[in-house]
Amino acid sequence: MHIAQRMQRLGTETAFLVLAKAKALEAQGKHVVHLEIGEPDFDTPVNIKTAAKKALDDGFTHYGPAPGLPDFRTAIARHMNERLGVSYSPNQVVVTPGGKPIMFFTILACVDEGDEVIYPNPGFPIYESVINFLGGKAVPLPLREDRQFRFDIEELKRLITPRTRMLIINSPQNPTGGILTRDDLKQIAGLAVEHDLIVLSDEIYSRIVYDGFTHVSIATMPGMAERTVVLDGFSKTYAMTGWRLGFGLMPEELARLVAQLQINSNSCTASFTQMAGLEALVGPQDEVTRMDAEFKRRRDVIVEGLNSIPGFRCHKPLGAFYVFPNITATGKSSKFLADYLLDEAGVACLSGTAFGAFGEGYLRFSYANSVENILIALDRVKKAVAML
Ligand code: PLP
Repeated sequence: MHIAQRMQRLGTETAFLVLAKAKALEAQGKHVVHLEIGEPDFDTPVNIKTAAKKALDDGFTHYGPAPGLPDFRTAIARHMNERLGVSYSPNQVVVTPGGKPIMFFTILACVDEGDEVIYPNPGFPIYESVINFLGGKAVPLPLREDRQFRFDIEELKRLITPRTRMLIINSPQNPTGGILTRDDLKQIAGLAVEHDLIVLSDEIYSRIVYDGFTHVSIATMPGMAERTVVLDGFSKTYAMTGWRLGFGLMPEELARLVAQLQINSNSCTASFTQMAGLEALVGPQDEVTRMDAEFKRRRDVIVEGLNSIPGFRCHKPLGAFYVFPNITATGKSSKFLADYLLDEAGVACLSGTAFGAFGEGYLRFSYANSVENILIALDRVKKAVAML
C-alpha cells in the first residue's frame, strides 16, 4: 500500500509504546510497576458516572452540535471565567474528545507551511510531532533544570524570528512538573504582543498544583485573550482519561474554524460524555481536592526516594504528577536506563528523550500510582542501579 510522504514526519507518544511493552511483559508473568503513563489511578468520581448513566437514559446518544452542547459550553465558560479571572463567552469554547485535538486543530488552523513554532523541549511530544507533520518548522525552547525547568526568557527572545507564528507553553508542565511564574507569563505576553504571536497555552494540569502555588493563565494578561488558545480538559483533574473530554478557549473566529475542523474529523464529542463533564464542573469538587492531596503525598515520597539513589538528582515539582530526575551521574543514557529498569527491575518509566532532544540525561516517572507501588518501584530502581 502506498503511504503518504507526510507520515514520515509524524511522531508519537512513547508512553503508549512503553505501556504496550510493559503489558506484554505482564502477560508473560512479569510483575511491572507502572510509572510510565500519565493517567490518574483513581476512579472517576461517582457523581460524574451517575450523570453519564442518566444522560444515556435521557437520550443523549445522538450527534450534537460540532463545538459542543450549548449548556456545556456555557458551564465551561462560566467555570473558567470564575477560576481564571478571564471573560470568555460560550461561543469561544470548543469541546473536543480530549484536550489533544485542540493542539492538532489549533496548529492546523493557524500555522502555514514554513511557519516557525516555538515549543518547550523537553515537552509533550505531540507538539513537535504535529508541527512537523503539518509542515511547520519546530523550534525547540530548552527548559533548564537549574531554573526549575522554566525556560530562559532571553533564550526565547533569541529564537523569535519574522517567521515565528506561534509559541506553545505548558504550565504546569509535562514531563518536568515545572511551572511558569506570573512574572514569566508577563514577559512572554509582552513578547507575544510585540511580535504578533499566537500562544497555545496548555493548561491541562492547572488544578494539580502544590505548596500554595496559584496557577495563572496567560490569557489574563493584557492583549492576550485575542491571541491565546487555552487548552484544558477533564482527563487529569477528574480522572477521566478514558472518557475523552477536553476543550479549548479561543477567539470566536478561530472557534468557528476549529469547530469546522471537528466537523471534518470527529463530527462532535459524545453527547452523554459532555453531560458527565457538566456534572464534573457544577457538582461537588471534594474529590478533586482529595486527589490533589494524595498526589502531593506521592510527590513527596517519590522525590525523597529518588534523591536517595546514587546517581539520581530530583527536583521537587510544583505541579502535575511527574518527576524528571537527572540521571547523568549514573553514566548511562536515558534510553538505556529506561529500558534497563523495565526489563531488569519491572519498573516502567520513560526516557527523557521521549520528550525531545533536551530530555537526554533525565527519566520521567509518573506518580499517578499508589504510595505502596511507588515504594516498591523505588526499592527496585535503587537495587537495579546499584548493579549497573
Ligand atoms: N497536554 C498535556 C501536557 C498532556 O500531558 C496531555 C496528556 O497526557 C494532554 C494535553 C492531553 O490529554 P487528553 O487528550 O487526555 O485531554
